[in-house]
Amino acid sequence: MAKVLEGKAVAAAMAGQLRLRAEALARRGVEPRLAILRVGDNGSDLAYERAAAKRCAALGIGVETVTLPGDADTQAVLAAIDRVNADERIHGCLPLRPLPGAIDDGSVRQRLSARKDVDGIGPASLARLFTGSGEGFSPCTAQACLELLDYYGVGLRGRHAVIIGRSLVVSRPLALLLVERDATVTICHTKTVDLPALCRTADILVSAAGKAGLVDASYLRPGQVVVDVGVNVSPEGKLCGDVRFEQAETIVDAISPVPGGVGSVTTLVLCKHVIQAAEAVCGLPDGTER
Ligand code: NAD
Repeated sequence: MAKVLEGKAVAAAMAGQLRLRAEALARRGVEPRLAILRVGDNGSDLAYERAAAKRCAALGIGVETVTLPGDADTQAVLAAIDRVNADERIHGCLPLRPLPGAIDDGSVRQRLSARKDVDGIGPASLARLFTGSGEGFSPCTAQACLELLDYYGVGLRGRHAVIIGRSLVVSRPLALLLVERDATVTICHTKTVDLPALCRTADILVSAAGKAGLVDASYLRPGQVVVDVGVNVSPEGKLCGDVRFEQAETIVDAISPVPGGVGSVTTLVLCKHVIQAAEAVCGLPDGTER
């Protein structure tokens, strides 16, 4: 049976370290602070906001929610971003996305200060992924995949990582992070020919397709490590990933579950970035990842 890469253990280890860093900031009179920018009151935004706020509070990170009505226009959102950028008490800002369709997402991403872009959505953060230098942060979910692999000691150097998905939110940033760590990376998408055969060549297979049950036994071989990023609802109404867990666990070496895998680590990465941003303001060395 495969080893199950539980996110909870990773999150607990990260939380322990982050609490110490938040305490070191507190001794300097600094409370790391996150602004969550929400437009409207969509249920999944509210749920994410509650989870992030709870996690932050437990680590000594202050949270304030900046809310705008669901019919706010782009100018109103940009004005809110300007206020957050100018507020020295706030170290990081998380705009909950997707934003309502009437708002120009590109302008919002551009406007947010790179120093406060803790979810890695702006152009400076993306440039940093490409060049390895400059301001900004890695997108949290992509970074969470690395945290999970590192915690469980999965070697990356020289190994073949296959990623299903080419989104700017998860897959492309993850590809760059893995290349930076000396993996050989293949990105797959809906037009990829013979996806199962390609996936079987992976040492590390990451699925971020958002398709329940896409990855079955035909995609897998013994020896693989599988990271399931997908968050879906099964036809039976249950939360599930992209990978058919019960098939995979009898074939591969290790697999992350859904729920309880990457998703459990993502908000900890967000907290880590807020603390890192606060440390940068105080001139403290952060020692964290790019
Ligand atoms: P997306 O819809 O933007 O991208 C999905 C990608 O998968 C696309 O590039 C598409 O080409 C590819 N794809 C879809 N179906 C495919 C198929 N049948 N064969 C090959 N490729 C296929 O989604 P996203 O924003 O990148 O998110 C991906 C998944 O990760 C979603 O389920 C999302 O809910 C989940 N997610 C999880 C977290 C977390 O913290 N765990 C965070 C963000 C997103």
